[in-house]
Amino acid sequence: QTPISQLFSADHPLLSVEFFPPKTEEALEKLVESGDDLAFYQPDFVSVTYGAGGSTRDRSAQACQLLRDEHEFNIMPHLTCVGASRDELAETINGLYDSGYRNIMALRGDPPKDADSFVVAENGFAYASDLVAFIKELHPDIAIGVAGYPEKHPEAPDLATDLRHLKTKVDAGASFITTQLFFDNADLYRFLEEADKLDISVPVIPGIMPVLSVKQIKRITSMCGASLPKELESHLNNAGEDKELVRQIGIRWATEQIQDLIEMGLPGIHLYALNRSDVATELMSAFRTATVSE
Ligand code: FAD
Repeated sequence: QTPISQLFSADHPLLSVEFFPPKTEEALEKLVESGDDLAFYQPDFVSVTYGAGGSTRDRSAQACQLLRDEHEFNIMPHLTCVGASRDELAETINGLYDSGYRNIMALRGDPPKDADSFVVAENGFAYASDLVAFIKELHPDIAIGVAGYPEKHPEAPDLATDLRHLKTKVDAGASFITTQLFFDNADLYRFLEEADKLDISVPVIPGIMPVLSVKQIKRITSMCGASLPKELESHLNNAGEDKELVRQIGIRWATEQIQDLIEMGLPGIHLYALNRSDVATELMSAFRTATVSE
């Protein structure tokens, strides 16, 4: 397992793909099987999200292990501060380290469904920056990724405040930033400009998610605060109930975003492929085409 911080280079944008731990054993097996298709496009790393509950956490660890064993992917397990004390977090971090992992995506996590705001666990951490500093202290050689929000985090009063908090995470020891999904590259470029003014100098990997259904995207954007550009919304409205057309529009939009980001010299692309290997491979192919023509 290689620290992602060692993989960045000027002429080779990184490709990463994110999975969430499936609910059933069967779905997990299917996901791991789909790794063969993904391996063809040689992702530089594969990240696996971390859920709120115990069984989801076990499945997350299991998914990391299987994807690593079966396909030799460089894995970035996610970790959140939700419901865990410092001692419990130390146990998880040491466990990951002893198993050979050298990357962690350090997150605060979301408030539970029925709560208005994030609840700090007893003897736990209130912010991702605390977790970053904690990991760094335990294992300085782990590469730490943190989340950035081109349209600001939903709880932040404005982008400037959110970016100051992002700077705290970087100063605490983060090696790179992966962004929340966005659909208008202009939002990312504005974010990068503002981040630059604060001397946030670690690589920023933009996160891209294709629209696959109108229902899915309305739910996700309402949760994470990302906005749908008018042009994309109008294409989707015109497609109406035609699911295949919606999917094609979503893939094309994401492909154009990727092409533009590569042209602009971004250090990588992170794909939110929603556990769909067909979608992941289409976008990975778009990435490889864009990097070859650069
Ligand atoms: P933080 O960086 O701690 O920020 C949270 C809020 O607090 C922000 O509004 C920030 O501005 C504010 N803040 C930060 N520091 C301070 C301070 N010192 N004083 C006052 N305010 C402060 N969730 C999961 O549960 N599992 C996952 O696997 C997961 N993976 C993700 C991957 C990516 C790439 C992204 C973008 C998000 C992911 N999330 C995941 C969602 C994430 O947990 C939520 O967005 C969460 O609400 C914030 O997490 P954070 O790490 O950005 O928090």
